Amino acid sequence: MTDDAHADIHDYLRLLERVPETFRRSWDAIAIYDLEGRVMLGNAVARTLVGSDRAAGLQGQHFTAHLTLEAATKAARDFAHCVTLGQAIESTSVFVDGNGQPVPVRMRLVPARVRGRVVGVVGFARDLRRRLDVEEQFMRAEQQFRSLFENHPDALALHDLQGRFVRVNAACERLTGYSVEELVGQTPALLAPTGKYDIRAIRVPIERGETVEFDLPIRTKSGSVREVEGRRVPLHVDGKVRGFCGMLRDVTEERRLARNSARQATRIAELYRIAASAGVPAEERVATALEAGMFELGAEWAYVTRTADAMIAYTAGKKPAQLPHDGSLHESISVEGEHYGTVAFVNGTAPLNASATDRDYVRALAVLIGSAIQQGERERRLDTLAFGDALTGLPNRALLQDRLEQTLLTARRHRRSFAAHYVDIDHFKAINDTYGHHIGDGVLVAVSAWLRTVLRDSDTIGRIGGDEFVVLQPEIDSQRQAEELAAKLCSIRDNAFRVGEHDIAVTVSVGCAVFPVDAENPVDMLKVADAALYDVKHRGRDGYSVGVVS
Ligand code: GH3
Ligand code: MG
Repeated sequence: MTDDAHADIHDYLRLLERVPETFRRSWDAIAIYDLEGRVMLGNAVARTLVGSDRAAGLQGQHFTAHLTLEAATKAARDFAHCVTLGQAIESTSVFVDGNGQPVPVRMRLVPARVRGRVVGVVGFARDLRRRLDVEEQFMRAEQQFRSLFENHPDALALHDLQGRFVRVNAACERLTGYSVEELVGQTPALLAPTGKYDIRAIRVPIERGETVEFDLPIRTKSGSVREVEGRRVPLHVDGKVRGFCGMLRDVTEERRLARNSARQATRIAELYRIAASAGVPAEERVATALEAGMFELGAEWAYVTRTADAMIAYTAGKKPAQLPHDGSLHESISVEGEHYGTVAFVNGTAPLNASATDRDYVRALAVLIGSAIQQGERERRLDTLAFGDALTGLPNRALLQDRLEQTLLTARRHRRSFAAHYVDIDHFKAINDTYGHHIGDGVLVAVSAWLRTVLRDSDTIGRIGGDEFVVLQPEIDSQRQAEELAAKLCSIRDNAFRVGEHDIAVTVSVGCAVFPVDAENPVDMLKVADAALYDVKHRGRDGYSVGVVS
């Protein structure tokens, strides 16, 4: 290397000093070599690249000193080419940094010329690690974004500021039923059940950079309406809002389940209320169950059929024109393990739209109705067998006997008086003969109902035989009170009872016994009353007699 040449490179360096900014601020490492490859000058990046802090750290060193052995051989060849051919040469090379770690670089060797003559070489080296890292990160992020976008379980859509779909993911295609091709370029108006979509209202918060949550129905390509929950997130590009990302989640099923479970809870509470209403007559419980069912299921009417073909045992609402049709919700009712009948909920026109939970509910209602009917029948049977009179519903002889004993014991304990009245319809046989036994029955029912009306709540009335009734009148102070009631009973003569198409008037004969004056035990009380009755009949009927007949 001649001094001349050295003078030239110094000239070059002086030239370079006119553009110090380029040299200093470059992202690349820059070094200037003389024709033998010694470093004349290196910038800060170059010093960092090789781990040399001091400004003079590089100076005078051969440029191959900081390359790996392999890279040095190749670089020396490139350097020679650059100098001899006067051409810029680009290649990759590997530096070794201050920690001995290899640093891949993109190297560019450019001949430095002064007045057309090559006086040295300017070397540019770009650290590939950083670039690779950034590129890789960028690629990875892009891929991650892509895969996140594509595989996201929620429907995602990127919109421009006009609201048009720019990009949609697979979940969005699934939710809407439309393909990417069908969606891109369209606005969400395509999905609005009303067909309306106000982009201006949507844009305002988006442009302010606000995320908006929404809750709305969408109509899919197939025409079904889904309930959707979502949010619109503004999309920033270079610090400006350029569009938004819509995230949609189909919550139709979720909402339906939530509604159903809330509704089912109410239903069950109602069933419990009905089932637990002790003391409520069976018929009433059945009616309440039917009403609850009608309300819950949105049925127009409900009924319980006794058999497959006709008899309607309980009806609520409108009377059905026909028996359960296909659109009805019905369920078999069992009473004491036997098929009893069917409960049905019906709509006049449209079939009932019933879910699985609705069917479960009807099943529960059928069980409830079955148990109410069972309870009702048991009560009725007990009443009839033990105490009740099937025709009039009045206590029968057995119950009356029991009541008489109770009344007598109470009176004895409280040293009070009471009366027993024997009431017998006059010439009842004639009614049967004239109008028939059926009308006779109706007269018995009418008479017993009337008798009840003239009695106080504390009084007991029972039917002890065909046309014979007994009235127990507790807590009287004198025989006069017994006479007053007997007279009142006889006032039945002033009534005419409408039975079938007949107005039938009756008279009665009443025989009374007063405790303890006439008798002191139940048997004697009835004996005395019977005797007094006989006395009235004997004297011509339609009247009363009190006490022991002398
Ligand atoms: P009297 O004035 O003497 O009482 O004459 P009566 O015709 O009322 O005769 P009595 O009381 O001796 O007979 C009652 C009749 O009532 C006898 C029977 O034919 C009739 N009878 C009894 N039980 C029933 C019933 O459940 N239904 C109907 N329709 N008739 C009955
Ligand atoms: Mg009679």
